[in-house]
Amino acid sequence: MNQVVANPPEKVNLLDFDRRGLRDFFTQIGEKPYRAEQVMKWIYHDLEDNFENMTDVGKALRAKLTEVCYIGAPKTLLNKVATDGTHKWLLGMDSGNAIETVYIPEPTRGTLCVSSQIGCALNCGFCSTGAQGFNRNLSTAEIIGQVWVAAKQLGNVTHQNRRITNVVMMGMGEPLANFDNVVRAMHLMRDDLGFGLASKRVTLSTAGMVPLIDQLSAQIDVSLAVSLHAANDELRTELMPINKRYPIADLLAACDRWIARKPRTSITFEYTLMKGVNDQPEHARQLIKLMRKLPTCKVNLIPFNPFPGTQYQRSDANDIHDFQTRLLNAGVLTMLRRTRGDDIDAACGQLAGQVTDRTRRSADIRKRQDEGALHAS
Ligand code: SAH
Repeated sequence: MNQVVANPPEKVNLLDFDRRGLRDFFTQIGEKPYRAEQVMKWIYHDLEDNFENMTDVGKALRAKLTEVCYIGAPKTLLNKVATDGTHKWLLGMDSGNAIETVYIPEPTRGTLCVSSQIGCALNCGFCSTGAQGFNRNLSTAEIIGQVWVAAKQLGNVTHQNRRITNVVMMGMGEPLANFDNVVRAMHLMRDDLGFGLASKRVTLSTAGMVPLIDQLSAQIDVSLAVSLHAANDELRTELMPINKRYPIADLLAACDRWIARKPRTSITFEYTLMKGVNDQPEHARQLIKLMRKLPTCKVNLIPFNPFPGTQYQRSDANDIHDFQTRLLNAGVLTMLRRTRGDDIDAACGQLAGQVTDRTRRSADIRKRQDEGALHAS
């Protein structure tokens, strides 16, 4: 007779729940929901992952929790520190994949740049994550786990005096393409019993998934950044294929609706400056014209960060200066993002991790690069 042995039920990772989910889970296992809040505080304020150390949780409950669930952040494969103090973590996922998380210390704040996907499906030609292809979305635990791991490793400061003051969803992936998990993780970043960051200090950056921008503003209060990179459709489509689906006019209309819903907020437009591609006076004029329609918004100029195999180059310092001056003279709020951590490839667009590409795009790109090298020789 065949004997069927039931598998023990899979343990649940508590990092996958926001506060509401955690309360529901505690109810399901026959506990009072306020216990969930006690445990949440241990997880996010004390960065505790061992139930046995949660001293105000009764012994019986601690034993029960150990049996049915766990607190599982991603594994650190590597923690590199750049000469300017920037940290880059390589965090292991399943099947040999890995993602990257970056911490950027500045005198008055510390910003953590968090990934939302293993790779990215959007294929923006100037981004090294895009060149890696796409594997899968990260779970809520894998997203909030990046903040947890970084907070723990940056160490020795109290919750009130924390080193991570800002989180930007600007790492690997398109966060809006992993909507539910990203929103749940951002609720944990904002929650007082989570990391307790104000809405201004949690920013989601999108390549412009228009319908999801509207959904986002309806579901959570965070700040928005939009990757623009070109102020005319022809060039933007060349740089960012998503522009075919959601052209500039549609994107700006979504930005108008965002501001109408959140009148006191501003949107940051990211514009990566690539030599001879989008950094000329005519491009500045086009951008100024576009920004006139969004007078409360800002432009963040990013000098292009090179990566192996790219066809693009960083703009010359003179052109960067000229571009910024034109915008400033026209009254556009413009910042130039300093390149941080480039001795450890931790700058914008350089995050590559280790991605088992399911789209075959990286193979195609490598093939084109090899052919290009052949033609060039
Ligand atoms: N997918 C989202 C989140 C990525 S954020 C988005 O597109 O907004 C990372 C930012 O760095 C984006 O503005 C992206 O366009 C920009 N970027 C990508 N590659 C870059 C590179 N090589 N140099 C400088 N900036 C780059």
